[in-house]
Amino acid sequence: MYKHMLIEKIAQELAMGKAVKQSDGYLTRCPCHNDTKLSLRLKLTAQGDLRATCEDGCKNIDIRNKLREWGAPFSDLTANDAPLVPMVRNRFYDSTLVGTYAITSSQLAAMEFVSSRYFISPFLYAKSISMVHAHPGVGKSMVVHGICSALTRENPEGLMIGPWEIINGCGVLLVDGELPMSDLKKRLSLISKGLGGEHRRNRLLIFASVDLQAKTGEPINLTMVRYREEITNHFRRHPEYRVLVLDNLTSLTDGMNENTKTAWAPINRWLLQLRNMGVATILVHHSNKSGTDRGHSSIRDNLDNIISLKRVKGASVDDVHITAIFEKGRNLLPGEGKDVELKLIKDEQGGLRLVCPQA
Ligand SMILES: [Zn+2]
Repeated sequence: MYKHMLIEKIAQELAMGKAVKQSDGYLTRCPCHNDTKLSLRLKLTAQGDLRATCEDGCKNIDIRNKLREWGAPFSDLTANDAPLVPMVRNRFYDSTLVGTYAITSSQLAAMEFVSSRYFISPFLYAKSISMVHAHPGVGKSMVVHGICSALTRENPEGLMIGPWEIINGCGVLLVDGELPMSDLKKRLSLISKGLGGEHRRNRLLIFASVDLQAKTGEPINLTMVRYREEITNHFRRHPEYRVLVLDNLTSLTDGMNENTKTAWAPINRWLLQLRNMGVATILVHHSNKSGTDRGHSSIRDNLDNIISLKRVKGASVDDVHITAIFEKGRNLLPGEGKDVELKLIKDEQGGLRLVCPQA
């Protein structure tokens, strides 16, 4: 019962509800190629193993890795050819939600999670939600633009963004709530230049509210279900995108009362849904007058990292020279959470680079 339900869930997630049931399993969308028909056959063998075969010839190992990368419910696919067997044996079955989906502590101990997949050390990893907050003009967008650009480069691994090192590159969706396209172009091209030019392994996709409003008449508003779902669907359809940047919370949630818990609740649920899909999200937010992040305290509850950016004392207002302070860091090792400095410098070619002046 349980395993059939799990397979159905996986098949439907992959095909966004369009998977076709067959006598021994499901036909669904292959996550490893640009699958316009349903090429992936998912079925359970008599031994209870999951078999996934792509009619287009995608490699089995790639398919398994992709399914695992997707996170829940794929985190249940622990390893190799028989992912479900240890999960399914020894369990007490009944058709209640608890009986079907709750797991025992020993099953939990045997599970492998993709959260160990790091994009940027020490804080940006799959299934994490981070907030970067600062006062206007400090340079928070520059920092996240640097992150977006570096993650999508041709050879990102080992690149430094200030004090932080890229461990794995991936596709990035940057949702911008207020910058004019000309500003975005100028900044991103200067940052790109500082990193060696416009050579990318993965896409940096820019979904800009100003641009959307010019084309459709409506800005992006994350308080509306429609925009949240469109973004979720993008990550479902394109598993090569693993990082979502929301710049910034205030401009993307027009009309929301930041100071109430109920207003934040649907957005919070959405962020958790993205986390379950394996996405790493960075929220950019304004600091309030006292220097902490603005809005209701429930915004902080599900965050894995909170990084406050402050202008270094004595730095000029036209410089981006900041101290990054970890106010919260769920998976930081001792020493990783110490304050670090970032400085934006211009190289001889006129490109911009974030460096760590302490190093
Ligand atoms: Zn395929």
